Amino acid sequence: KLEASLDAARQSSDLFAVLFIDLDRFKLINDSLGHGAGDELLMGIAGRLQSSVRGGWETLPSVVARLGGDEFAVLINDVRDVADAAVVAQRILEKLESPFRLGERQVFATVSIGIALSSSGNSPEELLRNADTAMYHAKAKGKARFAAFDEGMRERAVARLEIETGLRKAIDAQQLVLHYQPELAVRSRKVIGYEALVRWNHPERGILPPSEFIPIAEESELIVHLGKWVLREACRQMAEWHKRFAFDPPLTISVNVSPRQLNQGGLVEDVERVLAESGLAPKCLKLEVTEGSIMQDAEMALATLRELKSLGIGLEIDDFGTGYSSLSYLQRLPFDTVKVDRSFIKELGVSAESSEIVRTIMELARSLEMEVVAEGVETEDQFQKLATLGCNYVQGYYFAKPAGAQVTQSLMLEREKLQRSFAVLQG
Ligand code: C2E
Ligand code: MG
Ligand code: MG
Repeated sequence: KLEASLDAARQSSDLFAVLFIDLDRFKLINDSLGHGAGDELLMGIAGRLQSSVRGGWETLPSVVARLGGDEFAVLINDVRDVADAAVVAQRILEKLESPFRLGERQVFATVSIGIALSSSGNSPEELLRNADTAMYHAKAKGKARFAAFDEGMRERAVARLEIETGLRKAIDAQQLVLHYQPELAVRSRKVIGYEALVRWNHPERGILPPSEFIPIAEESELIVHLGKWVLREACRQMAEWHKRFAFDPPLTISVNVSPRQLNQGGLVEDVERVLAESGLAPKCLKLEVTEGSIMQDAEMALATLRELKSLGIGLEIDDFGTGYSSLSYLQRLPFDTVKVDRSFIKELGVSAESSEIVRTIMELARSLEMEVVAEGVETEDQFQKLATLGCNYVQGYYFAKPAGAQVTQSLMLEREKLQRSFAVLQG
């Protein structure tokens, strides 16, 4: 049918549209109500799809097809532009607003719809793929909606795929590197430890920041492999620095942990193994976890965090203030440090609200006996304000940008020399 429509469109330069329709959370229905109910629902959906396209302004009849599983496609002939196709998509969403009767139950079903116009491709496969790509965007935006395909989507899809395949090899090919950014004590302005921040030394594109690949890695198991590597390398490096330099107290290393690592098990064993392998003292390792990853599966996360705590390592809440964790929940969690997100630090002294938020976080942390690290400190003014508010630790470009292991090590060497000459002067 698509082939025929393409032929017709070539002759007349008319447009048609392909809608790719995917049921949201179909697996949930199958798993909970059984496959019989699932089949019934699919038939119900098919009926409503048909009634959404039947009768209207189209001269050629539209086609409704089931592609397989919970995927449907609709071919709408004779559209003028994407807005015409959007009308049909909207009608489908509205038709699904009333519940389905499955045996004794009423079930609500929603779909995500991707729209591709015939002008976006030259073959049935290409058109379906474009509509599928748009559907993926609709899902990612929160399901139960439609999205129309544009060229940018394809480019982004290709770029994502490239990143994903490249990243799989990157770990073994030793293309990942860690940069280290110091954390300083506010009172002494001395470095107390470092945060390990991963970079990808891409063979063609040079050094890539985590924002280019961590979100993609987080969509699959890839993040677990990457996370393991980061943990192992960061601990190995810090253990080595402990052997070379005798700072008092010993430097700490903070490692970022992704939601998937926290929620799917195995993290406690990984940490135990890495500590044993590297010989790093547990109290010198800190794991940074964002609010969001705790909220995904709070009970599971809580259990894992308690086990980690019992190993004697430090636990920090990262990017604090950007999530939506309830403050009362905070006291149930075994964190010892809060890292205030840099968006608040940036506004310090600029907006009165931000100063108030930072002050409130400080008070909260104090009452829960937690330490506070301010992220993203860029000016002396921000530093002074934080010191006045009672902040314990700071991190930011004002003191140092993240740097590779060699640069970081040479700075340690400088510091050690300074300490020695200071000791000589004092002696
Ligand atoms: P994060 O954990 O909040 O790390 C702090 C980020 O703020 C770093 O960006 C750092 O370079 C940046 N930063 C530090 N001081 C300043 C400042 O004064 N001004 C500004 N504008 N930025 C500052 P980076 O290295 O690009 O990392 C971004 C995020 O990527 C991290 O945010 C973290 O969420 C994630 N990430 C980095 N490494 C890893 C990793 O090994 N594993 C996981 N799961 N995530 C990582
Ligand atoms: Mg962090
Ligand atoms: Mg952070």
